[in-house]
Amino acid sequence: MPVSVPNGNDPIAVIADDPRHSVSGFTTEFIRELHNRQGVSLRDASLHDKFQATASAVRHYMVDEWLETKDKNAAAKQKTVGYLSAEYLLGPQLDNALLATDLTEIVEESLAQHGIDLAQVREQEVEPGLGNGGLGRLAACFIDSLATMDVPCIGYGIRYEYGIFRQTFVDGHQVEEADKWLALESPWEFVHPENAVQVNFAGHTETWTDETGRERTRWVPGWGVQGLPYNYLVPGYGTRRVNTLRLWGARANNQFDLKTFNQGDYVEAVRAQTFAENISKVLYPEDSTPQGKELRLQQQYFFVACSLRDFIENELEPGFDLHRLGERIIFQLNDTHPVIAVPELMRILIDEKGFEWDEAWEVTKSCFAYTCHTLLPEALEVWPTELLGRLLPRHMQIINLINVSFMAEVRATFPGDEERALRMSIVTEHPVQSVRMAHLATVAGSKVNGVAALHSQLLRDKVLPDFSALWPEKFTNVTNGVTPRRFVRQSNPGLSALVTSRIGGGWVKHLDQFDGLEPLADDAGFREEFRAVKAANKERLREVLHKRDGIDLPEGHLLDVMVKRLHEYKRQTLKLLHVVSLYEQVLSGKRKVEDLTPRTVVFGAKAAPGYRLAKDIIHLINSVAAVVNRDPRLEGRLGIAFPANYNVTLAEKLIPAADLSEQISLAGMEASGTGNMKFALNGALTIGTDDGANVEIRGLVGDDNFFLFGMDEPAAAALREQGYRPRSIYESDETLRATIDLIESGIFSGGRGGAFGSVTSALLDEDRFMAFADFASYLEAQEAVEAKYADQEAWTRSAILNVARTGYFSSDRSMRDYLDRIWHAGPVV
Ligand SMILES: *Cc1c(COP(=O)(O)O)cnc(C)c1O
Repeated sequence: MPVSVPNGNDPIAVIADDPRHSVSGFTTEFIRELHNRQGVSLRDASLHDKFQATASAVRHYMVDEWLETKDKNAAAKQKTVGYLSAEYLLGPQLDNALLATDLTEIVEESLAQHGIDLAQVREQEVEPGLGNGGLGRLAACFIDSLATMDVPCIGYGIRYEYGIFRQTFVDGHQVEEADKWLALESPWEFVHPENAVQVNFAGHTETWTDETGRERTRWVPGWGVQGLPYNYLVPGYGTRRVNTLRLWGARANNQFDLKTFNQGDYVEAVRAQTFAENISKVLYPEDSTPQGKELRLQQQYFFVACSLRDFIENELEPGFDLHRLGERIIFQLNDTHPVIAVPELMRILIDEKGFEWDEAWEVTKSCFAYTCHTLLPEALEVWPTELLGRLLPRHMQIINLINVSFMAEVRATFPGDEERALRMSIVTEHPVQSVRMAHLATVAGSKVNGVAALHSQLLRDKVLPDFSALWPEKFTNVTNGVTPRRFVRQSNPGLSALVTSRIGGGWVKHLDQFDGLEPLADDAGFREEFRAVKAANKERLREVLHKRDGIDLPEGHLLDVMVKRLHEYKRQTLKLLHVVSLYEQVLSGKRKVEDLTPRTVVFGAKAAPGYRLAKDIIHLINSVAAVVNRDPRLEGRLGIAFPANYNVTLAEKLIPAADLSEQISLAGMEASGTGNMKFALNGALTIGTDDGANVEIRGLVGDDNFFLFGMDEPAAAALREQGYRPRSIYESDETLRATIDLIESGIFSGGRGGAFGSVTSALLDEDRFMAFADFASYLEAQEAVEAKYADQEAWTRSAILNVARTGYFSSDRSMRDYLDRIWHAGPVV
């Protein structure tokens, strides 16, 4: 299984000096944990006990460095990155901890001596799915990179009791189940109830006069909860730094409960407790389409209030002058979810610390920067002022005051342009009076960034054009990245060993060293080895899918993979139309079955539970799969595999096995994508539109090593402008018509026509994301894929060049860009 790769990093040698860093040393730690934590003997231990004991024994090796890191931070007094994110899609932790501590082989050997298989132990881990998709996974990559780069960072977020739902399929329909990831307890967290933080809600505000005769405002809250910090270790790779991820869990506030209890209403006291603890109960499963739910606003305020309080009270030395707060912290707002932190910091400085408004505003502006993650208008968060004012009355006042001075600035800069002022206002009157969180973030943030070059350009030109006209220097780009530790080194041990055998192991920390592979693309022996790695990864995937889903992947197929959240803009339907068109061509005799490139299309996608059309698309994919996979006329040359519950654990097995990466969103819709980067780094070729970071991937790997199709963003905008009519494309394109007609014929629904009417009519009547317009171009690009795949040497050469040329997409590089352009912070060694 895992192949040894020397780290080539000196700091590991320090750890290796530790006498515990040996097979016998680990065995001692492991047995101690089994006895003292699990309370079982080795003989009676269940697999779960063995996992818990392994995980907590591995954690022993990080705790000293973690405590040392805290001391280092306190002594250095340098700027910390406070990453504020409502989501962290961490994935399983054991392998990552083993890699960081360089213990993989020691643990494997130690367990083997007791008849325990590390691979089996590893499978016991339930991943913490505290995020929906790309945005949450990005946060997890970023904190990994900052630790590896020796930069002080605290990740702040929410410890949801239930993460993203577990997806199952019943008769091809998505069914959601609660994700009880804590049912067997997490071995990775340290809870500190003694450091609980009070968070208040509701009530009213009142004015009072202080000793100096100054008029002040205070908030008299209606109710409150406590936030309990749960600390997770974030170990850097090849360094002694271990940073902290601090997730907040809600607990009932004793004071409030006791009062009710003393009045004799025991049931009411318990009910109030449940109410309070609901705040961190469950992750909202909407990706890109926020629901304006009160509980969600409570979650947002809850975690930022805890985090600001924690940093100011616990991370800074006592007596620190808060006028200089911006020298010690930069809070990065991961999308608008944490933006309520802006009025919260103003409130703390003015109401609690006695700052004047202007002083407080100067400090606040220096402490925040904002990352925008979207281009979809429906993804931009707005909160009705009625709700915000009821839940957070003092914050609503502060937002209004920020807006008053902001409007004055706009009117002074653009005199007489009242329309512009209305467009830019933080508070809008339509359709109901609401706060636009992206505007608040842009006004308060020192910088605003998009997440890929194209996205940042569109952010300036289309999403926030008035703001970029007012403050052009505020806008910048940082292209996303992924951590090479998890998404190459851990998930693809075969490729890691092969690469390291040729260019050394420095790439794990310096992914630009992948460029040393460039000449090897022309080395026939290397290509052969590269293909063998891909074949072994496919074999590993076959075993996983067989065991996990009862899916039997055929051998020797091109693996064509589309895994990401189900959303119309990502266009899973376009992929499906391609499969159905191939099927239709064989049925109608337009294509001989022996001319098909043997191909399995793999889908993985969760739909938001309330997103009807997305769920209907899942049903359609499963229904097409059920028919196509069983049709003997295809002679096993075309199949669909749709394993349920796509998550990080599955991604780590799927991506290294893929040949073709599907990144086919309508141009101008996907902000960046990070799945696209993971695939390229693992040697899949991309078929994609000119969207998000695809643009940069293609620029780096070159047109010969990328299958481009479809309209670019200006073309899509122009088509929309002139009036897009999908039905006329259906009428004029014979292949498309036959494809849609086959779906409507009822062949995929037991002869019942109209079963998928919601999907086909969404396409025929509106096709919001113009799948029909790109259909012909997509099919042509797929033919180019088949032609290239027929020449395995040419294909492998391109795959190697994809790996060699995409080192840029390391999240270490993203972090360097944030540090230089936005945070103005650096490492503490
Ligand atoms: C990387 C990743 C994503 C993001 O994928 P995109 O294709 O960029 O949307 C979503 N979910 C998981 C589990 C991931 O690992």
